[in-house]
Amino acid sequence: MHQLPPLPYEKDALEPFISVETLEYHYGKHHKTYVDKLNGLVKDTKEAHLSLEELIKTQKGPIYNNAAQVWNHTFYWNCLTPEHKLQPQDELLEAIIRDFGSYEAFIELFSTNAMNNFGSGWTWLVKDDQNKLLIINTQNADNPIKQGVYTPLLTCDVWEHAYYVDTRNNRALYLENYFNVVNWNFVAENFLSASLDPQ
Ligand code: MN
Repeated sequence: MHQLPPLPYEKDALEPFISVETLEYHYGKHHKTYVDKLNGLVKDTKEAHLSLEELIKTQKGPIYNNAAQVWNHTFYWNCLTPEHKLQPQDELLEAIIRDFGSYEAFIELFSTNAMNNFGSGWTWLVKDDQNKLLIINTQNADNPIKQGVYTPLLTCDVWEHAYYVDTRNNRALYLENYFNVVNWNFVAENFLSASLDPQ
């Protein structure tokens, strides 16, 4: 059985940037529903023993979509922190400067990608197999590990359910809020490790 992992902080921990009400719906209802649907889909099938990563890499259709959404949301919660206004440091900052020019240029490019990610999807900072940093958009549930060469470092959920409670249709304001609570320590761990496990 796949589990809904506990949030890595209290539901009010991201206020005022992301509200308790958003976490109640986004974590407590949306994320939980993906877990429940996935368990229903794989129950008593040969996929029942596969990990989320194995399901993402091998499945299509509803099993893939729900497995990817479970993984993406767990990863997203870990990308956030109650510590406000952290910034990247050391090797990660050097790589951001190398590949984007500056931290500010990275924020601008990531935000532009997130704004232009049409409909529902995710915007990601990933590293490729040469350790180069890239910003990519995926649609709906799509997860970059499916493509085989990317390791996710940071993600932003741009489905409307991620921000409609707090900022209504204003995705730009959600992104501004989001960057106040990005867990750059988690991003750095992902950058320095080869692990794809979001737990
Ligand atoms: Mn979501």
